[in-house]
Amino acid sequence: MAGGGDSEDVMEAHPKFLRYDVVMAKADKTNMITKSTSRSAEKHTMPSNNGVYELLECPMCTNLMYPPIHQCPNGHTLCLNCKSRAHNCCPTCGSELGNIRCLALEKVAGSLELPCRHQALGCHDIFPYYSKLKHEQRCRFRPYNCPYAGSECAVTGDIPNLVAHLKIDHNVDMHDGCTFNHRYVKSNPCEVENAIWMLTVFNCFGRQFCLHFEAFQLGMSPVYITFLRFMGEDSEAKKFSYSLEVGGYGRKLTWQGVPRSIRDSHQKIRDSQDGLIIPRKLALFFSGGSRKELKLRVIGRIWEE
Ligand SMILES: [Zn+2]
Ligand SMILES: [Zn+2]
Ligand SMILES: [Zn+2]
Ligand SMILES: [Zn+2]
Repeated sequence: MAGGGDSEDVMEAHPKFLRYDVVMAKADKTNMITKSTSRSAEKHTMPSNNGVYELLECPMCTNLMYPPIHQCPNGHTLCLNCKSRAHNCCPTCGSELGNIRCLALEKVAGSLELPCRHQALGCHDIFPYYSKLKHEQRCRFRPYNCPYAGSECAVTGDIPNLVAHLKIDHNVDMHDGCTFNHRYVKSNPCEVENAIWMLTVFNCFGRQFCLHFEAFQLGMSPVYITFLRFMGEDSEAKKFSYSLEVGGYGRKLTWQGVPRSIRDSHQKIRDSQDGLIIPRKLALFFSGGSRKELKLRVIGRIWEE
């Protein structure tokens, strides 16, 4: 069974979950594997002897439970999600579920203080149970999504890991220095409207910046956009500026901007047009007028404000 090793480790450490997991395995094998993985990730950051904390894990999906926490007449607890999927039948004992809240557990949860789940990544803050989730969604130590556009990449991690991932798994070009002179060449640029996108990573000031170049449709007009993203938080991104320049045959387009954090998706930045926009006709003119090939030279510079 794929991922079986992972779930076994967890079960050994927490034998009380074994029975539930067997029930789950029958009901939804795939789900169990994913959830077991997320549980083991959460476990590492939590005090292992915190019995109350374990009571707050939904026995079905192992996610932490938030009000309304439900229970069956025999006292088996269940999160709201699992309750709605249980068709009024307690997954643990088979009793009719009804609509019984477990107020005592909800109140106990409210009195708990727990470390952020990103403790291992550097967050050392402690939060009341009910505000922990909200914090974790905005925690500056939470992993970043892979900044590579154009593919549905699910990899997340800290910046050094993502830089290595971009290099190894996406074959992204890496350049050192805060000025660049980059050539984009693409044959048959008019064939596939949205298929062009490129990413280059620049190392400067000890930080990494992603230069995106992509085609999109702006209203009725096909355009290219190029913009810079910062591999870090928005508060740090604001300390930098960048300029971009593209042209040919005596014409030139320039752009000066502030890099955006990779917390913002490339689509979001593209759709807000926060970059150098080059109408396709002009891009082809800069390329030498042939509609067969896109040949653009993008000159840029990054500096600290
Ligand atoms: Zn659940
Ligand atoms: Zn029950
Ligand atoms: Zn945190
Ligand atoms: Zn990736």
